Amino acid sequence: MRYSTLSVLIPVPRSVTENGEKLFFRSLRFFRSFSEKSLAAQEKLVSFFAYVGNPLSEGGPEEPCQILFQPDPQLRKEEWKIRITSEKIEIFSGGEPGFSYAAEALMQMLFASLREGPREAWLDGGEIFDAPRFSYRGFMLDPARHFQSVATVKKVLSLLAAFRINTFHWHLTDNQAWRLESAIVPELAGKGTLDGGFYTKEEVREIVSFAAKNHIGIIPELDMPGHSGKILSAHPELACDSSHPGSEYCLGNPQSREFIKRLLDEIMELFPESRIIHLGGDEAETSAWEKCPRCLASLKEKKLKTMRELENAFMTDMTRYIVSCGRTPMMWGTCSGQVYPKDTVLQAWLDIREPLRIAPHGNKVVYSVHTSLYFDYPASPAEPQESWMFELTEKGVYMTDPFILWEKELANVMLGPEACLWTETVPDWRILPKLLPRLSAYGECAWSENSKKDYYDFARRKAYLEAAGYYEYLRK
Ligand SMILES: [Zn+2]
Repeated sequence: MRYSTLSVLIPVPRSVTENGEKLFFRSLRFFRSFSEKSLAAQEKLVSFFAYVGNPLSEGGPEEPCQILFQPDPQLRKEEWKIRITSEKIEIFSGGEPGFSYAAEALMQMLFASLREGPREAWLDGGEIFDAPRFSYRGFMLDPARHFQSVATVKKVLSLLAAFRINTFHWHLTDNQAWRLESAIVPELAGKGTLDGGFYTKEEVREIVSFAAKNHIGIIPELDMPGHSGKILSAHPELACDSSHPGSEYCLGNPQSREFIKRLLDEIMELFPESRIIHLGGDEAETSAWEKCPRCLASLKEKKLKTMRELENAFMTDMTRYIVSCGRTPMMWGTCSGQVYPKDTVLQAWLDIREPLRIAPHGNKVVYSVHTSLYFDYPASPAEPQESWMFELTEKGVYMTDPFILWEKELANVMLGPEACLWTETVPDWRILPKLLPRLSAYGECAWSENSKKDYYDFARRKAYLEAAGYYEYLRK
């Protein structure tokens, strides 16, 4: 059974019209660009054509060029259009990401056309227009538990780009490790609990520039006031009880605030283009604070009633610092019903109603509810897992909708989804197997209109592309 090459795309595009024409694969020899924003897209196509043994070169005005990159001021930077006739392929966009996304889509169609071998390969003619459902399409990776090499991080970024994920949230610190070369805590380099890796400043810059080339922005995370065990092992004087520093900063010690601000300065310098800085803010325990004379004194002085309120005051201070530096703060949604300033983005992870609880306060929301989008959860019962993990199949990821039943209530606050890969049970070599089976389902959930989604049609397209060698190409 041969499907039209216009019907194989993942994520499924917004509109497709067929014109009944055919363009033979073997006629594709030259491309020409009329937009300097198509450079990354050109590179993608040239390496694809080399891979399938049908070299593609840049042609001049004298060559008959079959692939043309055209600027289109009507299209936004992530939007794209492809028009295929019996003579040529025209690719239109308003910006660099759009051209690259169109090149990815064209590669999928070309892989599908090549199923029967190059002699019989043709593209079906027609026009495709595509645009994203959500402007924020995130993915979080956790190097703080198990470390990922620079090569793995780059591989992850290029896979994200293939499925149009445009935001990479990097959970760089936790109880188990501090993964950045730092002038403030140099003694933590290479001292992870599960393994010893860390990123030098040079490596971070390399990753930042690789992500930018793939149209991906990075959100670095410095988790606080909990999940801070590793850094407190080097600075126990910043915990409530320096003989048992635990995982939480002392909220009543003014030095904690000053110290964290210096760390944030270092991170912001390392990520100059990062608009959003993530401050963590999740799962802090109050037990050390309850027993600490400094925390109790601070509670009294601020006329607050509970340690959660003191935590709120502490985190609010940190968000004000980020705003004063010209960035946007982001935090994990709190389980304790605390309210944070409106300009702080909150990442809902606990349950599907969390965005509804946040919406009346006006904070923007990122949707990462764990039962739908935690990629460390096993896709099948055979995978390694912990007792707290649910099973998360590809279909489960696919069916995720950040609005659930509440599109009207959440329309003004929902930025988009973010899938999270925590790594307590996932060493470096298991990152790609965890990612790939479910990433294309997630890409469609983040990019495509709900009305266009159909799981069984998705499964058909995925099987078709898999059989055509597309996923093999992505893995290499
Ligand atoms: Zn304290």
